[in-house]
Parts: sequence; structure tokens; C-alpha cells
Amino acid sequence: MELYELQDEHVGAFRAKMPAAPEPNPPISQLQTTVVCRCRPFLDHDAGSFQAVTTNGPNIYVHKEVSKAGLVDTTGKVNSKKFQLHASTACENDESLYEMYVEAVVEKSKEGGAGCVLAYGQTGAGKTHTIEAMMDTMFQSGVEIVAVSCFEVRSDKVHDLLNDSEELKVLTGADGNDNVVGLKKLEAEEAGEAVKDVVTRAKALRSTASTNANDQSSRSHAFYIFFLPSGGSLTFVDLAGSENKADAKSHSESENADERLKEMKEINKSLGDLKECIRLTLVNSKGGKQQHIPFRRSVLTRLLRTSLDVSPTSAVKTTFLCHVGPTRRSLSMTINTLNYAEQMCSATNAAKEAA
Ligand code: ADP
Ligand code: MG
Repeated sequence: MELYELQDEHVGAFRAKMPAAPEPNPPISQLQTTVVCRCRPFLDHDAGSFQAVTTNGPNIYVHKEVSKAGLVDTTGKVNSKKFQLHASTACENDESLYEMYVEAVVEKSKEGGAGCVLAYGQTGAGKTHTIEAMMDTMFQSGVEIVAVSCFEVRSDKVHDLLNDSEELKVLTGADGNDNVVGLKKLEAEEAGEAVKDVVTRAKALRSTASTNANDQSSRSHAFYIFFLPSGGSLTFVDLAGSENKADAKSHSESENADERLKEMKEINKSLGDLKECIRLTLVNSKGGKQQHIPFRRSVLTRLLRTSLDVSPTSAVKTTFLCHVGPTRRSLSMTINTLNYAEQMCSATNAAKEAA
């Protein structure tokens, strides 16, 4: 079959014929781990590229090309790769996203539990936008916060964003959990400033801690931890961009190229370790001989271990917000992101069924 490059009109025709979005199954309210795809809107800098993603409830279609029939009559004969997660969204504003997938995590923390909201995806897909919007919406909703900690993981090392980027160690506690030792925990009162402003300060430090100006934030994983009066905690994680090594090389012409390349390798390694943990979590969720999951391979996976527990009895209620760009330009990264998101989702569903 001859295949042709897809044009927006083909995607339009495909969408016109799409049935109403199916209800999430299992319902979101029953999930301890929820995996959601957020496709960011088309922006000015996307001009010149075509639509490549259609979201329809739990189903996400990544459009690759059209067959000749589709090209000629635009009846929607689009070749797409379909992914299934718990939910997806392309048009919701930040407030509705918060209400649908984040508020329940915040509620869990309010009751004294642990919650985690993670943003994953390639650089430019909207991770930082979403994490900041979710924190802002939480602040606006009047959630009481007693203390806050912020740190980033860069080159497999932890830096305290509330203490001049001081480097800190990660140690395993008596409970077997890994924790950052000596992390500054700023009490809301002691801070003498709104928690929101403390976070703004931390974000600024994240973006200036290194020497090269070109998109610092995509090269580190940022953690923002809020402590609630109930004793519960809530962690927002803005992961580094999940692009691959080939992308890292394209920056090597720039200043501090060696250091940058080294950082990129470390980031790729930590994200690779994360992907491997997700893959093996899925393998194990299918029953059979249980594989060792290499959480200890990097600081990132050590710190995320409890959040990556997909069992319905997991100690942490987690929402994974997997971000993709809407255009053909990011097609291969979109497919890569959704592959891992789907593994995480399948593992969650299998663990729920087995319970
Ligand atoms: P990432 O952190 O994944 O690299 P960003 O959050 O920096 O991506 O987003 C890249 C660009 O897209 C920014 O200019 C941001 O303002 C814009 N953007 C991302 N998501 C949205 C959204 N949901 N609505 C409007 N603009 C968005
Ligand atoms: Mg970012």
C-alpha cells in the first residue's frame, strides 16, 4: 500500500468520524495510580507542522500517514497507532485538569497520606507548564500548607533549591525507603513569605544553577514537596525532558559542550533507569517469575520508588501526567512517551485485577 504524508484535513476527517469518548475503565476514582496523557495545544512555533495526535477519552491516536484512498477523498483512512491509558486530554484548561486528576491526590494528602503528581515527556511538551499550573491551582484553592522543600536531581546528585543548591546525599532509612538527608524544610511561618513565593524562588534557582542558558530546566528533575497539617505530604515532580541521546548530540556545538553532553548522558541514564523500572513493573504485574526491579540504579528511581508502586495498596497515591506535543515534528518522541505511559497504565490495571 502506498503511504503519503498526512495533512491536517485527513486528521479532521478522522476526528469527524470518531465515536464519542468511552468512559474510563476502571473509573478514575477507583485508581491509586492514574496515568493520563496531556497533549499540549498547538502554539505559534508549531506552524509548518501537521496535527499528529487525537485524544478520545482513554484512547490516544498518533497519526502516522495516510493511504492513497485517504489522501484522495479524505474519508479518514489514516494510519494511526492507538494507545490506551486511563485518560487523555487535549483541550482542558489547567483548572479542569486539576479537578479531574490532581485534586484527589491532594485530598489524600489532606487526610494524612502521601500523594505524588509527576510530569513526564519530551522537552517542550508542557511538563513545567502543567506542574506549575497544578501547584498554583492548589495554592488558589486554599489548601493549608505548613512547610515546603524543593530540590533538583542533576547528574545523579541532589541539590537543595531552598539552600543555595547545596549538594545533599540520599540515604536508605530503617523503613527501607530512600530519603534526601539534610534537606531544608521551610516552615510556612518561618519563611515569612507565602509558600507560593518560596516555590518561585526555588524555580528560579533551578533555572540558573548551571552555566549554559539554553533551557536549563529540561536537564534536571525538580521535586517540590508540600507538608500538610494532617502530617500528609504532596510531591510534584517535573522530570527532565525524555528525548534520546541523538537529541543531546545536536547541542554539542554550544558552549560548555562537554559538560552539557555529560549532563545529558546522566539524564538519559536516569530516565532510562526509570523506563526500565516501568517495563519490569509491567512484567511483574503479569504474574509469573518476579524480576528484580533496579530501583537502586539511579537517584531518580530511588526517590520515585514508592510513587512507582502500582499496587492498589500503594502507600502513595500517584497521578502520572504524560506530556506529548501535538505535531508530526514530535511523532517519534510522542510514540516513545506513550509506550511507557501505556506500560505504566497496564501494570496498574493488572495489579488492580490481581488484588
Ligand atoms: P517542558 O517543561 O515539557 O519542556 P514547557 O512547560 O516549558 O515544556 O512548555 C513549552 C511551551 O509550551 C511553553 O512556552 C509553554 O508556555 C507552552 N505550553 C505548554 N503547555 C501549555 C498549555 N497547556 N497551554 C498553553 N501553553 C502551553
Ligand atoms: Mg520544563
